[in-house]
Amino acid sequence: MAFSQDNLVQLSDTFSIITGVTNIGVISDGISDSAQPRHIYLIDSGGDGDTGKKILRLLSELYGNNFVLQGIINTHSHADHAGGNAWLQTATHCEIWASQGEKAIIENPQLESALVWGACPFPEIRSKFFEAKPSSVTRIIAGGEKIELRDSTMEIISLPGHYIDMIGILHTDKQTGKSAVHLGDGAFGRETIAKYWIAFLHDVEGFKASLEKINAIHADYFVPSHGAIFTAPEALTEINSIAVREVETTILRCLKEKLTPEELLAKVADINSIPLGYIQYVLVGSTLRSYLSYLYRNKKIGFTVENNRMYWQAHTD
Ligand SMILES: [Zn+2]
Repeated sequence: MAFSQDNLVQLSDTFSIITGVTNIGVISDGISDSAQPRHIYLIDSGGDGDTGKKILRLLSELYGNNFVLQGIINTHSHADHAGGNAWLQTATHCEIWASQGEKAIIENPQLESALVWGACPFPEIRSKFFEAKPSSVTRIIAGGEKIELRDSTMEIISLPGHYIDMIGILHTDKQTGKSAVHLGDGAFGRETIAKYWIAFLHDVEGFKASLEKINAIHADYFVPSHGAIFTAPEALTEINSIAVREVETTILRCLKEKLTPEELLAKVADINSIPLGYIQYVLVGSTLRSYLSYLYRNKKIGFTVENNRMYWQAHTD
């Protein structure tokens, strides 16, 4: 289905969101200078080339020929965020901005599936759901960096945890002072948490620290990549914290007996009534192994290798 203006939520004169499976930020710059085409920057590009095409069609509908797609700013390299990059870059020669860590994967997307599988991936997990088409990152951006546009400013906020080197973008309209922060997958929308409960995480400790960081951001709007927009951070971060704590508790309870990661995955999925297909098996499995590393680092659990199996078990108090 094409994007229409109904998908567009205007948060300030220079910033709007194309709402969809993945919320995409649209920064419009140079609106005060009608003699020049406005410069558009996107935050993320959707899941595939088809989405890229739809974004470009919507921009044409809005601005006619009077715009240039200047760049895409990727919050991170996941395929539902960087999947439209390749098509848009080929069609418009736009720039692509990303953090150092995410650049490596945007340019070499096979790393994405290799990372969740922990080995050379099998063909089914090399689909567009896991791997975006490769595109070229033209500028590295890092947390703390401030970027001055004509009509607005952007501050890059480092939000690692969900993924290696994820960033959020705090956008402020110069004229009105209205601000909105695009959080990427730094916090998931309530609907997403309710649907999946065990959200994909690479580093639990980093994710928790990023939630704290989000709580301290002052902005008029908080935009998760998946879910509704809120005007206060707690509306998003609280449910994410609860979900993480609950997964931790479930794992610790399961690990009262020693289990292999495979056995733990089956048990946790059963408890949460998650029917695992191969996609969930890979994603939830990878996430639970990240929880094991986190709980081990925090001295809550230990491991042994016995009879050619790796067992994990909670420490008894
Ligand atoms: Zn993601």
